[in-house]
Amino acid sequence: MMEPVMCPFCGGSELIEEEESEMETDEEYWVIYHWRCQDCGEGFEKIIARPLSESFEEMEDDEGPLWS
Ligand SMILES: [Zn+2]
Repeated sequence: MMEPVMCPFCGGSELIEEEESEMETDEEYWVIYHWRCQDCGEGFEKIIARPLSESFEEMEDDEGPLWS
């Protein structure tokens, strides 16, 4: 995964990674990474979104033609 190089608020580099959370929408699967800056105390997030089809590759799709 990609880590931020510095705090977007103060530019400090003392970042603590906090527990990530996950969210699922209709079409996407989100992993939300949280960091907190030790210099200014601000927290910020980075969201990685990927299509649901990538995380559930074995899911079968038998909807049939949409135009029928
Ligand atoms: Zn900071």
